[in-house]
Parts: sequence; C-alpha cells; structure tokens
Amino acid sequence: MSILVVGSIAYDTVETPSRSVKDSPGGSALYFSIAASFFTQVNVVGVVGSDFDLKKLPLNRPFSISFDGLDVEEGKTFRWGGRYYEDPNKRDTLFTLLNVFENFKPTIPDYYKRSQLVFLANIAPALQLQVLDQIDKPRLVILDTMNFWINGYRSDLLKVIQRCDVLILNDEETLELSEDDNIITAGSKILKMGPKYLIIKKGEHGAVLISNNTYFAAPAFPLLKIIDPTGAGDSFAGGFVGYLAKTRKYDVENMRKALVYGNIVASFNVEDFSFKKLIPLNPEKLEKRYKQYRNFTRY
Ligand code: AMP
Repeated sequence: MSILVVGSIAYDTVETPSRSVKDSPGGSALYFSIAASFFTQVNVVGVVGSDFDLKKLPLNRPFSISFDGLDVEEGKTFRWGGRYYEDPNKRDTLFTLLNVFENFKPTIPDYYKRSQLVFLANIAPALQLQVLDQIDKPRLVILDTMNFWINGYRSDLLKVIQRCDVLILNDEETLELSEDDNIITAGSKILKMGPKYLIIKKGEHGAVLISNNTYFAAPAFPLLKIIDPTGAGDSFAGGFVGYLAKTRKYDVENMRKALVYGNIVASFNVEDFSFKKLIPLNPEKLEKRYKQYRNFTRY
C-alpha cells in the first residue's frame, strides 16, 4: 500500500559539537521517504529550486520513491540551519529560508490520489491543507509540524489538526500547542482538537502513543554515540507510517509495533550526517536491531 508524503526537500547546514556540514541534502519529505521506502512505495509531493541536484537523490531503495509530484522551480531550494549541543535533545534553529516554497502550489498526480496513507510532513499548514483538499478520503492521515508553525500559523494548523488521525509532536511542541505545562493533560487537550492518536517524541528518551484509552511508552534504542539528530523525527515517522502501510492494520496493537519500528529506523539515522546511515541500511540490519530492542524492553 503506497504512502503519499508532502514536505520539504532541503539543503541543511548543521552544526554539532564535533563537526559541521553545509548544504547537505535533507528536508522532512526526504528523510521520511528514505525511511518509509524500506516498507513500501512512497509518492513525494514537494518543490526544489534549480540548484537542487535530483540525480544525487537515493533512488535505489527496497521500494521505489516516486518524484512525479516534485516541482522544479527557477530559484533556490529551501534551506534550513540548525545547531546541536552536547545534549542531543537541545537544538536551535539558526535560519529557515523558504525560497521556492514561498510560491509553491502542490499539484497531485492522479495516481498519487489512490494512496491510502498520507503523511503531511513538516511544512506550512496552508500547503498541508491544499494537499488534503486534492485527495479522496485516505484511510489514515498522519501529521507532523514544528514550533515555527505552532507559534506563527496557529489557525491554519488547527484546521489541519482537525482533519488528521495521528498527530506527531515532540514534548516541547506538545506543551506549546496545548498551552499546558503537564504532558499528560496537554495530550488530552490535543486529542480534543481532532486526532484519534497523539505521538509525543522525546528524543533520546523514545516516544509515547496516546489516545483516549491508550498510553504506550517505547524507549529509544540505546546508542553509544549520536552524531547528527537532524531528521530523527522524520525518519521515525517514516518507520512508523511505513510499517503501518506494509502491515495494513491500524489497531492500537499494530500502532505500538509501528512506534517501535519508528524508534529503530530513527536510531540508525542519527548515527551519521544527512542520509549516510539510512541509505545503506537493509532489512536484515533493521530486524537485528528490532530483536535486540525486544530483548532490552522485555518485561
Ligand atoms: P527533524 O530533525 O526530524 O525535525 O527534521 C529536520 C528536517 O526538517 C531538516 O532536514 C530541515 O530541512 C527540515 N525543516 C526544518 N524546519 C523546517 C520548516 N520550517 N519547514 C519545513 N521543513 C523544515
């Protein structure tokens, strides 16, 4: 079952305590697609500028990634800069340059409209709404966002939240969106905004899945060294949605398993910059880590 994703395709500049990289390929849609294409076909909607080298995109995946919904516009690709600290859960955004995103109008190829799972990755909520308006009712809409949109584009964001089934936030975003200071009561407030499920990512501490009658916590896979946390959230989402698409079951039990796959895929992603660890990953390495994770968390 294929997944439609709309999100950013970017050149990222990332500073970490040990190393920095300038203009390396990134963006929410790319991290997501590369992760989810371990499980199923992914159809990308997005925009790049004429400076983006499409030939360098990793097309050689276990399942294909379609770029038929990708616009190439005259101008510069979206750029983002971030700085990390010794505590990998802490990040500052240094700059966000929308560039070709400013005038982007997503158009969805006809065959994309049959995608049963839709992932609205982190981009302007107005664009996420335009995508939802163009597709038939999918089986599941999964939404990601960030503080940039929560603080500056709240009313559009609330409209998308109302139309999603699963909302993915980190702990800070959960408190900001709900205007609460307790993560549990914040979660209940957010569920009242529309989604059936809320996933709260807690960086190196894992993630929790909340619904009106569920609470499930899954720790992160323990790593000796985190090199670059960029894309952890998007590759987590790729593992989560990819697993749901592959198994085609959307009950709570399967969502729990999908959450664990999200954690496992993200754990590989943060072991190097950009897509360096995700691209050579294979299903055997994934399953091996999944089994180790089961041992670590068996009770
Ligand atoms: P994550 O670390 O999972 O939060 O995702 C980081 C990725 O999101 C980077 O590759 C950025 O290019 C992209 N990104 C950061 N800010 C934005 C934004 N405001 N809109 C769209 N994409 C963004």
